[in-house]
Amino acid sequence: MNVAEWLARSARLHPDNPALFSGEAMLCDYQGFARAAGGIGAGLGAKFDVKPGDRVAIFAGNTPAYLDVLFGVWFAGASVVPINAKLHAREAAYIVKHAEASLIFASEPLGSELAEALGQDCPPLVDLQSAGFAALRDTAPLELPVERDPGDMAWLFYTSGTTGRPKGVMISHGNLQAMVFSYFVDVDEVYASDAALYAAPISHGAGLYCLQHVLRAARHVVPVSGGFDPAEIFALARRLDGIHMFAAPTMVKRLVAAGRESGENGEGIRTIVYGGGPMYLNDIMEAVEVLGPRFCQIYGQGESPMTITALNRLAVSDRNHPRWRERLASVGCAQSIVELRIADAEGGPRDVGETGEILVRGAPVMAGYWRDPEATAKALRGGWLWTGDMGSLDADGFLTLKDRSKDVIISGGANIYPREVEEALLLHRQVCEASVVGVPDPDWGERVVAFVVAEPGCTPEPEDLDRHCLAHIARFKRPKHYRLVAELPKNNYGKVLKTELRAMLDDAQDNACPASA
Ligand code: AMP
Repeated sequence: MNVAEWLARSARLHPDNPALFSGEAMLCDYQGFARAAGGIGAGLGAKFDVKPGDRVAIFAGNTPAYLDVLFGVWFAGASVVPINAKLHAREAAYIVKHAEASLIFASEPLGSELAEALGQDCPPLVDLQSAGFAALRDTAPLELPVERDPGDMAWLFYTSGTTGRPKGVMISHGNLQAMVFSYFVDVDEVYASDAALYAAPISHGAGLYCLQHVLRAARHVVPVSGGFDPAEIFALARRLDGIHMFAAPTMVKRLVAAGRESGENGEGIRTIVYGGGPMYLNDIMEAVEVLGPRFCQIYGQGESPMTITALNRLAVSDRNHPRWRERLASVGCAQSIVELRIADAEGGPRDVGETGEILVRGAPVMAGYWRDPEATAKALRGGWLWTGDMGSLDADGFLTLKDRSKDVIISGGANIYPREVEEALLLHRQVCEASVVGVPDPDWGERVVAFVVAEPGCTPEPEDLDRHCLAHIARFKRPKHYRLVAELPKNNYGKVLKTELRAMLDDAQDNACPASA
């Protein structure tokens, strides 16, 4: 089945339900939304000769037209290649070429920059603000989406990749359907009165959450700023009510800080799904305190989009549960649609409580990487997706993430998981953000170095941080050096770039302040 069927059905059943919004302004109802998508679907074939199975790229920030294009491309039976708007045009050009996209939708100035980077290799490019795009949307629409099999590709997502070239994750219509059903079963319900708010990039997993809202004929709201502005979000929530949004942990932290400062309590926000990076215990406790029981967590990756584990609202908010804290520090239990295993390097099982690589299999897992059999064979082994994340399961099936396998530090033969050290550092009241890496050491193999962003107006002393760590974690895990920085280097999705942190140390080894011996 083609996921665009859900739009066609919602338009038939609920033609007058409000659909797309720019801020508070309604742009169209479900009938109008399906008409636009059907028009783009028809126009793609008629005007650009796009055929089912072709790839169509989108290089744009968040805008309501993004949703028209997503469903328009699906109506035509083609696959969407979403490109993060924060990528450099040269990086975007690599993706367009690798995917062999036959058409690009883009907003300006991104489109011109991309066209220049592609030169004569540039396929036809449609500017989302142009009269040409409006005409495409007004093409006599397809009534129904082109038929698709569950295994046909719908979403070719290039991994954010903190090293090397990005890989194209092939996500099928069947994968997306599994993701949506699992969301309803394990994460949260969605009602027609809800409003999906796109504060995170639509080009990432957050954009895929449009599907459950289309299925329920709920509203889709793109903030006028096109991005993440806490004041705008609070104002929209109060006016529109029933807000549902995905937020990376850094966004949650900013929302909470803004709420604390302005006295906002999150009124009008029904659900904030957080994930995509580590949420530290103190931060989520503070978030629930300031904004209330509105939070659920998911753990997923492009290769199994939004669908590995979930920690539902009750588990996040139920302070009376005897293991509330442990559970809050976890990423929850396996979503119903997937199997989860913790494995050693050879794929052998790990016991409860033991750390190993997280393996997943099930209906949402990708078929492989686009035209990359080598990377596919590495990631999909023995029928399982090897996530590259390390973690452990407790007796009840709650998964605690440690780190990416490549970020684990081995010092004196002992494994040190940076996350544990970061959690400890964040308990220090002068520490705002922390990231821990291992650097080569002639005696120990590797030694632990901590990068610390201080709270405004604070300058924590290395000796003080060292005392603090000794009070919270095993002696051998504590950092040997501290480096105070104004900010941590992050990729376009807000993930800390540990490779850059290591490179900073290579450049200026002697600048790190040693902790007391
Ligand atoms: P991406 O493929 O860009 O979505 O990145 C996926 C990676 O983000 C995962 O493999 C994890 O390392 C990390 N991640 C995703 N969700 C969580 C979460 N809830 N907690 C901690 N890390 C997460």
